[in-house]
Amino acid sequence: MTDPHKNSSTESPPEPPRRGFFGVFRYSRRALVLVWTTSRLLTIVLGILTVMAGVLPAGMAWVGALIIDSVVAATAVYKETGSAEFTSVFRLVALEAAIVAALAGAQRGISLCQSLLRAQLGQRVNVMILDKALTLELAQFEDSEFYDKLTRARREASSRPLSLVNRTFGLAQNLVSLISYAVLLVQFSPWAVAVLVLAGLPSFIAETRFSGEAFTLFRWRSPDTRKQIYLETVLAREDNVKEVKLFGLGPLLLQRYRDIFHRLYERDRSLAIRRDGWGFLLGLIGTGALYGAYAWIAATAVMSRITLGQMTMYLMLFRQGQAAVAAILSAIGGMYEDNLYLSTLYEYLETPSRDVSGKSDGTRVSGPQPHDGIRFEGVSFTYPGAAQPALRDIDLHIRPGESLALVGENGSGKTTLIKLLTRLYRPDSGRILLDGLDLQQWEEDALRQRIGVIFQDFARYQFLVGENIGVGDVRFFTEQDRWAEAAEKGMADAIIKDLPKGYQTQLGKWFAGGQELSGGQWQKIALARAFMRSEADILVLDEPTAAMDAAAEATIFEHFRKLTQNRIAILISHRFSTVRMASQIVVIENGRIIERGSHEELMALDGHYARLFSLQAAGYQ
Ligand code: ADP
Repeated sequence: MTDPHKNSSTESPPEPPRRGFFGVFRYSRRALVLVWTTSRLLTIVLGILTVMAGVLPAGMAWVGALIIDSVVAATAVYKETGSAEFTSVFRLVALEAAIVAALAGAQRGISLCQSLLRAQLGQRVNVMILDKALTLELAQFEDSEFYDKLTRARREASSRPLSLVNRTFGLAQNLVSLISYAVLLVQFSPWAVAVLVLAGLPSFIAETRFSGEAFTLFRWRSPDTRKQIYLETVLAREDNVKEVKLFGLGPLLLQRYRDIFHRLYERDRSLAIRRDGWGFLLGLIGTGALYGAYAWIAATAVMSRITLGQMTMYLMLFRQGQAAVAAILSAIGGMYEDNLYLSTLYEYLETPSRDVSGKSDGTRVSGPQPHDGIRFEGVSFTYPGAAQPALRDIDLHIRPGESLALVGENGSGKTTLIKLLTRLYRPDSGRILLDGLDLQQWEEDALRQRIGVIFQDFARYQFLVGENIGVGDVRFFTEQDRWAEAAEKGMADAIIKDLPKGYQTQLGKWFAGGQELSGGQWQKIALARAFMRSEADILVLDEPTAAMDAAAEATIFEHFRKLTQNRIAILISHRFSTVRMASQIVVIENGRIIERGSHEELMALDGHYARLFSLQAAGYQ
């Protein structure tokens, strides 16, 4: 895969999404559905507890007032008659204690439901993200803008749906509370309710504005964040450590890492300072309103229009009401923010997986001319964004039983040809036929079953040796007999016998007991992998033997050819000792075929091939 980190960041943040304030709430419903379908039971329990937690505080305030008033009344009776009456006071105190206990229970229950949902939902969203990744095309992974989307979705969005749902429930809870406070407070004065709600608005407006800005910043910095992640990988992963050490790259790369941080930090700091500064100033309005109301309520009590108990209750209602209003507004602000982040998740999930033409959704499992093999007809291809075509006007015919060797300088287009043949990309013009049927019309699985391919940059999985071979055919991923058979064909069995746990040896250094192999040994494992596809009748080796010596490569190819009789073998190699064995040799230069024929024919032609062959032969003398 090419480096997906190629695009540098844009210098200024992009425009914030302008969908209007309420437009961005369109993901709330989807997030709720997501949570609901993740666990109905938990969602229902959460809903019930939320309502409980919403109503109980008002109940507490109300019982509190009753306690004070009954204490005042009992005191008066005591002063008059000298006999103390505790029953009603104690009963009320017990009631209040019960309410407090119930509230604590509801709050605990909410937090329990949330942590259970968080685990399930996080897993579900990650699976959705990865599931989607499976349907994407190679070209999409190589597109830096798309890769950005994927990173953003992975970094943030898996925690956002729950956050959104928590906030929605929090909002509901506080609304219930606020309404219950308002019901009590309105008896004092409807104006008190109005003051309560209005005093919270300024800080709310500031909050949403800054949420939007934070999100824009998040998008803008995503390429830089990716660069940082990449630098982390280079600095701290075993496969890069060798070069980092020997070239002394560490300090240089670390400095880059720091520079990126400082650039990002400056913007973060400015936003944080403004956010908190404004938050404080506008919050003062709320405090002013609270103490204004305090004075008003106290004055009313002084004039004996309300009882002491009522005064305490109203003050408490006002204070808690204000907290509820603040919580509601901040929940809305937070929902706005979550929605913005979720938009990146859904943007990613809704990326069309296939080319709009839908050409590759083929359904055919066989072609009209079963023994025709592979044909390239006038195939040209340019990588997205590339200035030059990587392949131009390629015509080729390879019949079953034939072997083809591709020869050419680095960058001439050999691997690209294989990528087109394996339908990792599709030609811009011309067509590729297998058994007389255009590749695009083949059903995905049927086509994949036909072709076994090992690229020069084959994957080195940190799995068991056997599984590293087994990946060649997922149907037999864990079948030991198949591993052994393929290992023998790929000449990897000798290496595996020497490993401490045979086929069960863990490869790579990431996990406990892992064993590292040499480049050539890995290549043998990769070859064995190609042989897992025992039904594949097209086998492609794109320089997977480059780390072996020339003699070993020639032996392997000879062996490969024997095993692939009646099949098509395609080989890319820079070694003419191997190339000469192929029945057809194609020389590619700058994306064009410049010579073709058997070794003898090409030598007789005395052109490019003959010159390269003699050069290499001279080197061996
Ligand atoms: P070869 O296998 O002959 O060494 P390739 O087929 O890999 O050459 O590359 C052919 C040309 O296409 C080169 O110029 C290379 O830079 C370009 N190229 C290869 N892969 C990609 C890619 N994923 N995206 C864009 N350009 C690419």
